[in-house]
Amino acid sequence: MQIREEEDWIVIDGVKVEGHITDECCSSCGHHLVYHETDDLYFCAFCNRWTEDVR
Ligand SMILES: [Zn+2]
Repeated sequence: MQIREEEDWIVIDGVKVEGHITDECCSSCGHHLVYHETDDLYFCAFCNRWTEDVR
């Protein structure tokens, strides 16, 4: 799993999505969550899991 931030984009394993890396951490693995701008959702790339509420 490779994530990098590129201006207004996040590149996850070579796939570009519109969003940014947040300061919020995944409740399962502790990695930073990615905010997906288009769908207004948070995503943990490591758990491969979408989440709407961030705890
Ligand atoms: Zn996670």
